[in-house]
Amino acid sequence: MKRNGKSADVQHGSVMHTTVDRVGSAACNLCGSESFQDVWTIESPLRSSPKQILRVPEAYHIGRCESCGLVQVRERAFLSSEFLRELYSREYFESYGGGAYGRDARMRPFRKYARIFDKHCPRGGGKLLEIGCAHGGFLEECKMLGWDVSGVEPSSHAVEVARSRGLDVRCGSLGSVQLGEAEYDALVTLATIEHVPDPKQFLQTAADLLKPGGCVMLTTVDLEGLVPRLLGSRWRQIAPPWHLYYFHQSQMVRYLEDVGLRVCYIGGKVCPGVYRAKAYRHDRRVWNLGYMLVIATK
Ligand SMILES: [Zn+2]
Repeated sequence: MKRNGKSADVQHGSVMHTTVDRVGSAACNLCGSESFQDVWTIESPLRSSPKQILRVPEAYHIGRCESCGLVQVRERAFLSSEFLRELYSREYFESYGGGAYGRDARMRPFRKYARIFDKHCPRGGGKLLEIGCAHGGFLEECKMLGWDVSGVEPSSHAVEVARSRGLDVRCGSLGSVQLGEAEYDALVTLATIEHVPDPKQFLQTAADLLKPGGCVMLTTVDLEGLVPRLLGSRWRQIAPPWHLYYFHQSQMVRYLEDVGLRVCYIGGKVCPGVYRAKAYRHDRRVWNLGYMLVIATK
């Protein structure tokens, strides 16, 4: 099977994509253009890391695609699997990620997201996969709402914590773990896609895992929000090498449509507890601080 010039292996009804050649190329991940305008140069926060592999490069150049406008980190060569393994080791959750992904710290937002998801994604109680589930806080909330939950998470430390909570979590990235094609009623990926080296391949793989009529909910950064427009590169989400892509809502719509999904809702996410959207429409009236929430179906 070939999609978008990329190869993908399909074995025994399962989906496992390989050959991520786009990551190594200089092309825009969304449209393939190679023309970029420089936006920011950010010194690496890891240039004095005790782990040698994380010290290179010493700075990241962030550019805007002149064709589609997607803002992305221009360096790609550093994104080896060894680099990513070190980047998301235990220290990420304990230092760089702060308490944000910790065991209990985000329970309130997780509960909020679980309720939004349960309300707006049909097939309640079906099979739900969370991609990038960290310590499993969201999955735990959805399990309590009756969903049959499982997760994929690249950090072995986070997987250990999630499993200790009794959750079914596979260790790896979406491309490296073998999962059943058209097996899931719903997929959720919260604040993850901006970390992924190849968002297009990531979304294609996710779409393949969904049953027809299945639902996707994702959250990510939104450069059109008030805070990034005010702060520019001082916004804390402008954070390479963790965050590699910075989206606008129209670009996220294009990504999802390119992989065969239909966007039902896209709008501001606001801060915890202040989600006001009614869903199933493109709601630009929602107060947008710099994050978007998207719901799409297959
Ligand atoms: Zn582009």
